[in-house]
This record gives sequence, structure tokens and C-alpha cells, in this order.
Amino acid sequence: MSAKEASRSVLHVDLDAFFVSVERVLDPRLCGRPVVVGGPVEGRGVVAAASYEARQFGVHSAMPMGQAMRLCPDLVRINATPGIYARASKAVFDLLGSYTPIVEKVSVDEAYLDLSGTEHLFGRALDAADHMRKEVKERLRLDLTVGVSRNRLVSKVASGFAKPHGLFDVRPGQEPRFFAPLPVKVLPGIGPVTQKRLRDFHIDQLGTLADTDGWFLEDVFGRYGRSMRRRAKGEDETPVCPPWEKAARKSIGHERTFAEDTDDVQILRGRLQRMLEKCCGELREKGLLARTMSIKVRYADFATETRDATLPRPSDHDLEWWELAGPLLERVLKKRRTLVRLVGVRFSGLERGFWQGGLFEEGRVVQHGRLAVIDRMRAKYGEKSVRTQNAYTMTFYANGEKDMVIDMKRAKAAASE
Ligand SMILES: [Mg+2]
Repeated sequence: MSAKEASRSVLHVDLDAFFVSVERVLDPRLCGRPVVVGGPVEGRGVVAAASYEARQFGVHSAMPMGQAMRLCPDLVRINATPGIYARASKAVFDLLGSYTPIVEKVSVDEAYLDLSGTEHLFGRALDAADHMRKEVKERLRLDLTVGVSRNRLVSKVASGFAKPHGLFDVRPGQEPRFFAPLPVKVLPGIGPVTQKRLRDFHIDQLGTLADTDGWFLEDVFGRYGRSMRRRAKGEDETPVCPPWEKAARKSIGHERTFAEDTDDVQILRGRLQRMLEKCCGELREKGLLARTMSIKVRYADFATETRDATLPRPSDHDLEWWELAGPLLERVLKKRRTLVRLVGVRFSGLERGFWQGGLFEEGRVVQHGRLAVIDRMRAKYGEKSVRTQNAYTMTFYANGEKDMVIDMKRAKAAASE
């Protein structure tokens, strides 16, 4: 474990009986009673969420409503209120986001937070977690359970341990001791099948699993054997992954099939440039930069060619990419054998950030502030309202007609005359 991992603070937060709790905020008379949210028996409804009072009768989510009613005759059933849970969830996540930007939402009522490095703002992770719970309770009247440790796995198990409306922290180094007496099924990833297999070998508790020889587990469970043993000791290095990092693992791209196959270079260039501009607009909107661009050309006979290009520094800038994409397309088309049916462009190697380059290269490329204006114009007046021909020339369109051409070189020359 690196020093950085040893000093991490990861929280697992989980709202208690979330749908029911939201309904109780709207109607406090439901408090203290066995309540479920879900469809009626007649409509073959199932339990979407159950209050802890209902759970005492053995009612749980995904149970058919008829069965829940039989288990608990005094059960109060409420229809789900559309939209309200998502709004409540957003309010909670907005609040959590004020503690750290590194929030990985797992579901509508559950998330991981990485608080590493926020000590100067909120003190110890445990104090921050306590503060967070009080704030959610006071401002949103919802109960939040929090598990605190230095990794996701232990925090997840700790919050399950602390439920409902609790807080549980596992100090660094105490993970194996916390895990040892717990049944193996609390470990995420150990399902009924693995559980049964482990029981065959008299491995019922995590402590036993942690003490079992690695080679044996590997022999029985293959490559998961060893990682299972590490996890049984409370070791986990999976980072908390906020949405922008998830996005960074993916790519952004567009492709279009022509209504009619073509070999008109102007049409092909125009289409590719529009898609490239669209992709770059999406990158800017999501606050991402791309390192690699691939262009794709598919011919009428379905043969497909792709070409990659990489910039020395990642960019979300139309023209920086177009300077590469234009020549790349021409090189592909030189080998053209037949008509083209599709062109596409895709950006990958995405990372969080905004375009930094060219700040001191006035005039060479369209400045970023101007790109933001173009994005806004396209959002308001449609994608075809502005076209950038090259580094200096922009054309504005109104109702599909060319309205105005701005040539920066000429404008500059005119201004200095
Ligand atoms: Mg929950």
C-alpha cells in the first residue's frame, strides 16, 4: 500500500429507507408506522421500499405486495410519487458535493466520497461525516448512514453495519479486526454460490477466509481466490471515481451515413468538420479534453478505413483538431476506391480540463472565449448557424442563408489602417 492510499479517507453514504423517508417528509403522519412504497396488490405491485418498522415483519424491497400485506396486516401502502425522489436525491448530492468534488454516485440514495486532503477544511473525516449527517437531517429531514475508513470496501461494510441512521468508522490498521467476526456474505461480490462453496470448506467468517492460504483459494476459485483473501482482510485500492473520470474512460464521437453515397470532397469535408465541431462542443460542455482523434470512412462496399491523430497536448478546440483532421481525410480519400457511404469522427483519451493552449498565440487560432460564444449561438440558433472555415474566417447563417462572414485577418488589417 502506498503512503497515499494509507492516508486516504473514503466515505460510503447511504440514505435510510429513502423513498419511505421522502414520503414521511411530505406526510409526517407516516412516521413510526410500517410503511411501504409500491404498487397495489390488484396491479401485482411489488415493494419498492420498506420502512424499518415494516422490515421487522419480514417485508423487504422487491417482495410482491400481496405477500407483504399478509406478513404485516397493518402495513400502510403508498404509491410512488413520480419525480420527487430524484429531486430529493439531487438536493442531498448537492449538499454532499460541498464537502468534496470527488463524489461517485452509486444509486439514487448511495454514494462514495473521497475526503482525502479536505482535513484543513472540515477536520478529520469522522467529524466531517458527523457534520454531514446532521446537515442532511436538519436541512432535508432525511437520515443518512455513513461508513468511514481508508477504502471503499471497508466503508461500504461499515455503513451496512451502522444502519439505520448511524455512523461507523474503522481506524487505519483496524480493518482485519473489524472484518474477522463478520459472515463472508457481507463482502460485496460473495454471492450465494461462493458462500456455499466456502461453507463446504468451513469458511463462514471473514477472519477464516483471511487466514486461509492463498494457493488453496486460487486452486478452488481461480484468480478471484487471492483477491478474495485480500478483500477479506479489508484491503481495497479501488479509487472513488467521480462522473468526469468515468466519462474520461469513454469516448465522444459521431458518424453519419449519407442519404446518397458520394465522392464529392467538399461534401465529405463539410460533413466531417460539422461532426468534429459537434464533438468539440460536447467536450467543452462536459469540461473534457481529448488526446486522440480517429476519423472513419466507410465505402459503398462497406470496406472501412480509420486513421488516428494525436495532439502533443489534449485539446477541445475545433480548429486545432481540424488542422489534423482535414489532411487526414484527404490522405484516406486519395486511396479511394469507390463512393463513400459514411464518415465519422471520435475523440478518446479524454481527461478533465479546459483548453489552455494558444493564449499567447493571438490570431493563430480562434480564441477560446469566442468558441464559447459559438457554442451558445449554436445552442440557441441551431448547429448550422455558425461555421468556422479556417483559423481566421467564420460564417454566420440565418434561416439557412449566409448572413455574415467575418475574416479576422482582414478585420485586423482594417483596424490597423
Ligand atoms: Mg439506502
